[in-house]
Amino acid sequence: MARDYYEVLDVPRDADAAAIKKAYKSAARKHHPDLNQGNPAAEALFKEASEAYDVLSNDDKRRVYDQYGHEGLKGRGFDPNFTDMSDIFSAFSDLFGGGFAEAFGGGRGRGRGSDLEVPIQLTFMEAAHGVTRTLTVPRQAPCEPCRSTGLKPGAKPSTCGTCAGQGQVITAQGFLRMRTVCPTCRGAGRQVSNEDRCTHCRGAGRVRSSAEVEVRIPAGSYSGLQIRLNGKGDAGEPNAPAGDLYLTLDVEEHAVFKRDGSDVYATVDVPYPVMCLGGSVVAPTVHGDETISVRPGTPSGHIVTLTGKGIDDVRQRGRRGNALVRLVVGVPTKLGDEEEALIRQLAVLKKEDVSEKGFWAGLFDKLM
Ligand SMILES: [Zn+2]
Ligand SMILES: [Zn+2]
Repeated sequence: MARDYYEVLDVPRDADAAAIKKAYKSAARKHHPDLNQGNPAAEALFKEASEAYDVLSNDDKRRVYDQYGHEGLKGRGFDPNFTDMSDIFSAFSDLFGGGFAEAFGGGRGRGRGSDLEVPIQLTFMEAAHGVTRTLTVPRQAPCEPCRSTGLKPGAKPSTCGTCAGQGQVITAQGFLRMRTVCPTCRGAGRQVSNEDRCTHCRGAGRVRSSAEVEVRIPAGSYSGLQIRLNGKGDAGEPNAPAGDLYLTLDVEEHAVFKRDGSDVYATVDVPYPVMCLGGSVVAPTVHGDETISVRPGTPSGHIVTLTGKGIDDVRQRGRRGNALVRLVVGVPTKLGDEEEALIRQLAVLKKEDVSEKGFWAGLFDKLM
């Protein structure tokens, strides 16, 4: 008894075309024969999901199925009975067109070069303003003499004898016929004899070397951000694409600035008289110093927002965060005689309980 198609794709009965396509793609990705070689259960699930998609993605078939179920489809010749995996790939060539790799993103095709990951250390300011870096990346590079073909000049590959150039072989497991990648040519469909191989890369089409890669790290980058450079990873096997290069950023802390997304915090010491009487103070921002006016009676810890003086939002072009300047009372650690006398006068006036002049020094002398 066939399972309900909505249940197979795990979508509600009123799911729209986009939701159905998305559900099928995710099921197909999970059960794809390329990723589940030698697993008949996955193949069966792949087939089942494909049948469900065949019906639910077609308005006429879906209407019949909704009204009359599986039997109704059979009666009208709508029954999607895929006998072979290749039927599925050709039926949904819009999804699978260009092969598994392109249809499912990621481009993890056979023979594709490996992805590389390179950590990059940035200063706070480099991340804030963006920076261009030239990196030396050890990687598999395309072989120049053979132009990545792996062949000697004038040599031609011969058709693979195992799969007759198909790149796939059919094996039988019980009732299921399975298509798997040809073990001899690993899906290429072609073979190169030893004497026809490029002597520089020994037929691999790529050589170990290091590449200079110039990268522009955008303003507003942050720790943990990954930048992908398409095709800058390891070169692939002949006729296969290169992998990608991933840069993983690590941003150093700053002595003055603290980031919260694209907002930047800084703390500024403001002299007590300025906090009391009002005035102005110079505050640092990542774009340079700004003069801030301080209102009379400003409490310590008060935050002044400088709109648009923060860091660019790396995800949203044109949006910039704010600078948030925390004003705190600056307390001098050393006082001149006159300064101390004035502060003592103030303490007397306000009847503040302050230590006597030289109190701590005197106590220290006694203890010694
Ligand atoms: Zn083969
Ligand atoms: Zn070569």
